[in-house]
Amino acid sequence: MPKYVLALDQGTTSSRAILFDRSQNITGVEQREFLQVYPREGWVEHDPMEIYSSQYAVMMELLAKRDISPADIAAIGITNQRETTVVWDKKTGRPVYNAIVWQCRRTSGIVDGLVKKQGMADHIKKTTGLVPDAYFSGTKIKWILDHVSGARERAGKGELLFGTVDTWLMWKLSDGAIHATDYTNASRTMMFDIHALDWDDTLLQALGIPRKMLPAVYPSGHRYGFASIQGTKIPIAAAAGDQQAALFGQCCFNKGEAKNTYGTGCFLLMNTGSEPCESRNGLITTIAAGLDSAVQYALEGSVFVAGAVIQWLRDEMRLFPESADSEYYASKLSDTGGVYMVPAFTGLGAPYWDMYARGCIVGITRGTKRSHIIRAAQESIAYQSMDLVRAMEKDTGTKISELKVDGGASKNNFLMQFQADITGAVMRRPVIRETTAMGAAFLAGITSGFWQGPDEVRDKWQCGTVFAPDMDGERRTELIAGWHKAVGRSRDWAAL
Ligand code: ADP
Repeated sequence: MPKYVLALDQGTTSSRAILFDRSQNITGVEQREFLQVYPREGWVEHDPMEIYSSQYAVMMELLAKRDISPADIAAIGITNQRETTVVWDKKTGRPVYNAIVWQCRRTSGIVDGLVKKQGMADHIKKTTGLVPDAYFSGTKIKWILDHVSGARERAGKGELLFGTVDTWLMWKLSDGAIHATDYTNASRTMMFDIHALDWDDTLLQALGIPRKMLPAVYPSGHRYGFASIQGTKIPIAAAAGDQQAALFGQCCFNKGEAKNTYGTGCFLLMNTGSEPCESRNGLITTIAAGLDSAVQYALEGSVFVAGAVIQWLRDEMRLFPESADSEYYASKLSDTGGVYMVPAFTGLGAPYWDMYARGCIVGITRGTKRSHIIRAAQESIAYQSMDLVRAMEKDTGTKISELKVDGGASKNNFLMQFQADITGAVMRRPVIRETTAMGAAFLAGITSGFWQGPDEVRDKWQCGTVFAPDMDGERRTELIAGWHKAVGRSRDWAAL
């Protein structure tokens, strides 16, 4: 009887393989970083072959180091950096161009064309749930077809295939037998109708993308096919984009349940149930990871600069040597002495959407010390997330009384307590914070019968630390008013 489920977590900077046992314990992790390619200012690429080879290498290393036979693995679940785009030759398996990474801004002009010349903004929002942006895959595919010699013609003849990273990995692992993706990844392409659960012909036409090159789309938990490993066929039983996988890994299976991931930026996702919720506050509507075609939807909001502000204080301002030190400085104080930092380094996202906003530190007096600024930086992560929570509450009409948290900066107890205080909601931090990989493992494990279903997974899931709000309402209101005043100072800056 197989003992493990294997999660392949293909992220933006590294590929990881993580093994889970039946009790949801991690029994092994291997990780390998790969090259980031920056051909020009604002352009970001990966070598698809390196994405695959690094992912394959960590998987094999994990098995070899622990002497695990492929037969011990019940199923593989894949989770991946979202939106990143690969186009390859169906016969040779060779990519026709590097993978264009989600961060890459090269297709902003194409998006402008879709919005201004072709008047597609409303259609995009209504059909795909997205705000038109270069972030998503559709315009990246168009760019490749426009710029690689002969690519559009070959795509029209069915000689080229497109995939997000999950699709690319499944195709490689199955020797070309699987050309598929899941609803979560498809919902990030800006070509997928999230209501009809099919590619949208109007958008395909506007982008000049032939249907022939697109993968089949299935639920996240699905028997996609098999990876052939050392002569053993292991079922690939799940694929899901990283943030949706984390939502599942946090057991947010029901409407109203939400999680926030504190990494470089923050990603807040809330399960909104079987009906998509259209945002009036700058959030994105997306499909949540699930086990069948009766999909559940999610609202998503992101903070551009979260943990990154701590890195900035550490590496550029040199205020402390380790990110974890930030907590010590913050905990020494009872407040920031009226100092606020707004880390709008690249503008502000939801609910402000001000690309001309820039970072600022306000309220400085002669008494301001280094630790006040360090504390203000950490508080800024919580304030920005609180703004997203409020936007989500407005959109859904549901009060968020509890958030599951994960990501590197969720280790910071001061930050988590302040988040609870300022939001007026309970923060629950799980024992195992590898929630992205866990989500992929849960989906694959349930689909393959390794676990009985969501209930079993939820029963075994362990909450670690709980942070309950402990701030009186008056003080909260006063602090939030100060934050919004500070945000006002950061806005409309670069345009001057
Ligand atoms: P990503 O997946 O986006 O690379 P991680 O989840 O690995 O991010 O988290 C790394 C981020 O968390 C970094 O920006 C780092 O500055 C921040 N971070 C790590 N530890 C702490 C801490 N104790 N307090 C605050 N921020 C932290």
